[in-house]
Amino acid sequence: MTASDERKNILILGANGFIGSTLCAHLLAKTQHEVYAVDLATHKLAPCLKHPRFHFYERDLLIHHEDIHYLVKKCDIILPLVAIATPELYVTKPLSVFELDFEANLKVIRWCAEYDKRVIFPSTSEVYGMATDEAFAEHTTNFILGPVDKQRWIYSCCKQLMDRLIYAYGFEKNLRYTLFRPFNFIGAKLDDIRNDAGSRIVTQFLHNALHRQPLKLVDGGFNRRCFTYINDGIDCLLRIIENKNACADKEIFNIGNPNENYSVAELAKILKEVLHEFDTKLADAVKIETVSADDYYGKGYQDIARRVPSVKAAKEKLGWEPKTSLREALRRILNYHFNGVDPDAILLKNS
Ligand code: UDP
Repeated sequence: MTASDERKNILILGANGFIGSTLCAHLLAKTQHEVYAVDLATHKLAPCLKHPRFHFYERDLLIHHEDIHYLVKKCDIILPLVAIATPELYVTKPLSVFELDFEANLKVIRWCAEYDKRVIFPSTSEVYGMATDEAFAEHTTNFILGPVDKQRWIYSCCKQLMDRLIYAYGFEKNLRYTLFRPFNFIGAKLDDIRNDAGSRIVTQFLHNALHRQPLKLVDGGFNRRCFTYINDGIDCLLRIIENKNACADKEIFNIGNPNENYSVAELAKILKEVLHEFDTKLADAVKIETVSADDYYGKGYQDIARRVPSVKAAKEKLGWEPKTSLREALRRILNYHFNGVDPDAILLKNS
């Protein structure tokens, strides 16, 4: 048996989130690890709940410090995934972003350092801000953020300081860490499709289409994003967790799909086309209109024109590459919302 085959206790804080819930399902289906999951609710975790290696704790990171402290001590690998990661909330609730994304997570990182735990921490593609490099690289791209009254940057800034702090713990105290930076992960469980406003782009557009509301292109929809299907992202995280020959120790990895680089306007068009495959009438009724960023988000917003990852590090060190096109990802998302096909449930059923 190699070190990577050993059964470990994995703690996932924020397990009912988009990344957390999918990761739990894949860990249970594809590995022998015990999964300790913490969150406020379980609706995205339905396929995992009865699994014998799944242990759920309904706890709040902001309140139940003793219980979380105990779980960090008990487990081998810690993934603190609790965070607000929605641009609308960076603008309207900047203090909550700081309290949760920075303060609450800082406690967890300190416990990881104290008890010599391996930590896999979600940084973000937002740390690069408005960088102008063709492709953003982990060790060479400079971070460019806007002024203080543009509150959008509080998330990027909190995550950047967490990155620097974790790096410093690695440097001074030998904390075993891996930082990963998701680039616009998309999937069926991204945001709650019932929310009227404030979701990330794919869920927001889909919500609007389903409710016969226009898709709104902020400032004309010229800004570009690279869309990464959640299962590709999870595949990369499983390689990081496996950590063959310590290949992920003290490393930073962009996780994104540089090949699937589209403007928001192009995304709206492609979504309409894929919707056609599921409901012709609904797709024909989709209207697309432009809105100013000020009207949509308010004065505290500033947009990011382009955001392309270099995934060289993930390819060379983890042997990982993204596989899924935007069109295919949208098909799977629509298949979930129209036909109730939950890929996590199917995966667990077949495992
Ligand atoms: N956006 C848009 N219409 C919407 C929601 C978002 O045009 O209804 C734009 C937003 O201004 C940004 C892009 O879509 O340029 C992606 O936004 P998202 O909220 O998904 O997150 P981001 O990639 O900025 O972190």
